[in-house]
Amino acid sequence: MLKRRMLVLIAIAALAGGVIIVATRGTIPAPVVPSRPPGLHVTIVAQPGTPAPAKLIIMRIAHSSGLVDFDGEGILTDPWFTESSQYHHGEPLGLALANLPALTAVVVSHGHYDHFDIDAFAAYPRKDVPFFVEPSLGSAARKAGFTNVYELPTWQSSHAGSITITATPAKHGVPEVTYVLQGKGSTVFFGADTELIPDLDEVPKRFPKIDVALLAVNGLHAFGKQVVMTDQEAARLAGKLHAQIAIPIHYAFKGGWLSDTFFLSYHGTPEGFMRAAEATAPETQVRILPPGQRLVIDYSTAQTAGLVRRGDERQ
Ligand SMILES: [Zn+2]
Ligand SMILES: [Zn+2]
Repeated sequence: MLKRRMLVLIAIAALAGGVIIVATRGTIPAPVVPSRPPGLHVTIVAQPGTPAPAKLIIMRIAHSSGLVDFDGEGILTDPWFTESSQYHHGEPLGLALANLPALTAVVVSHGHYDHFDIDAFAAYPRKDVPFFVEPSLGSAARKAGFTNVYELPTWQSSHAGSITITATPAKHGVPEVTYVLQGKGSTVFFGADTELIPDLDEVPKRFPKIDVALLAVNGLHAFGKQVVMTDQEAARLAGKLHAQIAIPIHYAFKGGWLSDTFFLSYHGTPEGFMRAAEATAPETQVRILPPGQRLVIDYSTAQTAGLVRRGDERQ
């Protein structure tokens, strides 16, 4: 499929040869990892006196797009399945759009193409899937055929299946929310691509037990202006959230030669985040998840004392 939405963005004459470069926003399917890698298994002991939460599985699809599975109830975050001349995942997709499971809900943080690939996601067949979006995106989601769209402003909660979805603060170049997802005894913070802002300090006050935090780390600057947390800032946020596990997201992205040469710069890596978190977030274990690899947090084998350390066994 080669879908053409030929919006001409930029035409420049290159200084050297006077060559005209035309960047388009046509979209093409992104490559998918050929086979699913094995999962990383983590065992967490439930708090004494509380029932053991159900199994939680996290899988990055790519960038900020991922599946958060609360023991059979799957939430898709920030769907992005195609690429254009200025938007490259920088990593293969862990899962093709056509292979998505039946979802319990979709959450979208903001309207940038790399987080809200609505033209591609319109192919998702279950049009009545509960679709939670930052409030300015409701009409676009409905126009794509989705019938169950909820516009969630910051600090508003809603439900899908047994999962509670709360929009939380964010700051970015455009209106954005992050999300706290709660279900079956587990709590996950989805950090989209926010900057680190004081408003996020409220999150751990309202959600004191965060099991997993998905945090953007590439410190993206656009035209010299910072629009995403750096790896150091993401580590500080992991510490503020007291997250048991933090998974870096939003780091492999490339804007193509033109953007990466003239407009964009990157200030963070998952490895830098892991190093910074050792000092800044000592309660937090960092797991770098390649696309398609599943992080399985299984409370059922509670005889293993405590969390398995960084770089533990792969099964
Ligand atoms: Zn963005
Ligand atoms: Zn982004």
